Amino acid sequence: MTTSSLEKAHIELETSARILLADDDFRLLDSLHGLLKLYGHDVEIAVGGKEAINKLNSNHYDLLLLDLRMPEISGHDVMQHMAQHNITTMTVVVSGETSIDDISRALRNGAYDYLKKPYVPEELLATVNNAVTKKRLEDANRVMEARLNRSEKLHRCIVNNSPDIIYILDEEGHFSFLNSKVEQLLGYDRNELLGLPIISIIEEDDLEKARYFFEHAARTQQGARSIEIALRARDPNQSKRYFELAVWPVADSEDLITHLPCYRIYGTARDITDRMEAEAFINFQAYHDLLTRLPNRSLFKDRLSMALTQAARNTQRVAVMFIDLDRFKIINDSLGHTMGDRLLQAVSQRLLSCIRKGDTLSRFGGDEFTLLLHDTQGQQAVVQVAEKILETIREPFRLGEHDIHIGASIGIAIYPEGGDTLDGLIKNADIAMYRVKNTGKDGYHIFSHDMTTTATHRLMLEQDMRRALENDEFEICYQPQMDVLTEQLIGVEALIRWNHPTLGRLAPADFIPVAEDSRLIIELDRLTLSKACREIALLHRSGHGNLKLSVNLSPLLLERTNFVENILEILAREQFPAHLLELEITENLLMNDRPDVIEKLQSITAAGVQLAIDDFGTGYSSLSYLQKFPINTLKIDRSFIHAIKTLEEDACIVNAIISMALGLKLNIIAEGVENAAQLQYLRSLGCHAVQGYLFGEPEALANLMATHGEKFKAALRQTIRIASK
Ligand code: C2E
Ligand code: CA
Ligand code: CA
Repeated sequence: MTTSSLEKAHIELETSARILLADDDFRLLDSLHGLLKLYGHDVEIAVGGKEAINKLNSNHYDLLLLDLRMPEISGHDVMQHMAQHNITTMTVVVSGETSIDDISRALRNGAYDYLKKPYVPEELLATVNNAVTKKRLEDANRVMEARLNRSEKLHRCIVNNSPDIIYILDEEGHFSFLNSKVEQLLGYDRNELLGLPIISIIEEDDLEKARYFFEHAARTQQGARSIEIALRARDPNQSKRYFELAVWPVADSEDLITHLPCYRIYGTARDITDRMEAEAFINFQAYHDLLTRLPNRSLFKDRLSMALTQAARNTQRVAVMFIDLDRFKIINDSLGHTMGDRLLQAVSQRLLSCIRKGDTLSRFGGDEFTLLLHDTQGQQAVVQVAEKILETIREPFRLGEHDIHIGASIGIAIYPEGGDTLDGLIKNADIAMYRVKNTGKDGYHIFSHDMTTTATHRLMLEQDMRRALENDEFEICYQPQMDVLTEQLIGVEALIRWNHPTLGRLAPADFIPVAEDSRLIIELDRLTLSKACREIALLHRSGHGNLKLSVNLSPLLLERTNFVENILEILAREQFPAHLLELEITENLLMNDRPDVIEKLQSITAAGVQLAIDDFGTGYSSLSYLQKFPINTLKIDRSFIHAIKTLEEDACIVNAIISMALGLKLNIIAEGVENAAQLQYLRSLGCHAVQGYLFGEPEALANLMATHGEKFKAALRQTIRIASK
């Protein structure tokens, strides 16, 4: 063996190896020890199999040079022990009498190589060298494998514990990998999805969008792209879940694609249902009224603006309706806001039943609703809807134990005649609505341009009215009430007028609705009552001791808790006899059948004050209602009197009302008597108390007292002439 070849063999080994020599031959042990030491190895000796096993158990060696033939424990026994105890030391057998059998058995038991004794140093060193190198490689490999194993576990753990679904799609867009999150979020076993197209779990509505997205994602090679869509859960009853799908095309240079060339896209699906629901709620809230769940003002304006654009293009007509509830404020104040809310909800349900699917009904605020009718077939169709609405709203609402009666005032503006801009149409519908309010409520009106002025006045009026109360701009006129049997003046009705500094003399229709809206009517009515009591009390003292005074009362006044005290206080202050005061209330006030109202009316009548139902016949009274209240007088509404044309016309409702009132032993007074024919007819039915232009218009008290006698005589003369014909 040459030095150079020995050196070469050694050089290939980077570092020295730890070697155990096991033999029973001391000479051999000695020489091997010397040789291997010389080449820098770390060598130990075991004399015999027993010692070898001991040393292998407690130390780590790269290489074992093992004699097969040893007394007691042979080399085979040692190898068997090593196999049993997982000792991975590389074994090279060095044996003298080598039978083929021995060697093949040793190799079967895991020996790496064998050498014959006496050994040739070069051969021995080369074999040692090879064995050690192999052992080192194996060790390194094992470490690597363990590391890979750990890293694979870590990745799997990360992937499966990800809050997102992670997936890989092949060129066809089919799943080739999915993490286990898909089971938790959508209920699929991930194996059942493998091989299926991702499209198969996308909700119907999002399919189009998703297809486009994935086609695009597969084609572009740069960056992540994402989409928000709904994925279908395995259980069709599970509620919809929304996901943000993000995908990255797998770049060619990446390992994944070089090893598995069919993978095209990998991506994540993040569950964003909660966020979407929160967003949807916020969105809903921004565009809806939460109480009625109807669109709100903003959404209404959006829709109207779109409708107008379309209508302009197609020369269509669009109608805007402004619906304001009558008497809602009173109900809200008296029954409380919970009842008020429930009423609004019930109203919106009824309104919805009157409209077509494409029309928009919105709650504009308070007790105001707006309705948008698309492409209407002209005015007649709109009017039909308005009439239907009025009819359904008139039906009583049953809330708890209350039957509530309300009405609606509807203003209509039709594009383009009634306004050609969004705000213009809404404003004009509002103006038309106020026209309805001003003329007795519970009806509809279509906007026309001559109305605009009234509306601008309305706002001004409210401001003016506060000042007018201080400046005493209100004046009371009186209208006579006559008895045709006794031919006497029996009473007067106080009717208010406003001497406005710039607008002139205003009739109640011009300002009472505004006064009620602003609640100024309460102050105004109290003022009127005091003043009328004072003026009539003066008359009492100057010889008209039995003259009755009728005063109109707004329902708002009656709503006040101290209503009774208020009235009695005024009577006491003005020293007015209670039995000569008659308060006129409308029958609608009685409709809502409220114990507190009944109670107040009872205390006031107990004090002697009389009660009259004004405009009787125009509301919803039934006999059963009337009996609950302490009513003295029915005032038959002038529309019924107006309907009397000739004496022959006996089919009049007036007949029915009068006979009913007589049956109930109520006083009757006919309002709005304008001509002798009407008077004659009323007389024939047994109605003797009358009021109307035939006997005098409302006027200042002094004028009335001076002229009523003459006027009455003239009226009676006419009647006699008719009767004698
Ligand atoms: P009302 O209580 O029904 O009063 C009768 C109305 O009919 C009065 O109108 C009167 O001028 C009118 N009238 C009287 N005779 C005839 C007639 O022969 N033919 C016709 N076509 N009309 C006749 P006015 O004074 O304009 O009052 C309108 C309404 O305003 C009243 O209707 C009443 O509801 C209300 N009102 C008047 N003054 C007051 C008040 O001080 N307080 C309250 N809360 N309301 C009042
Ligand atoms: Ca009246
Ligand atoms: Ca009346």
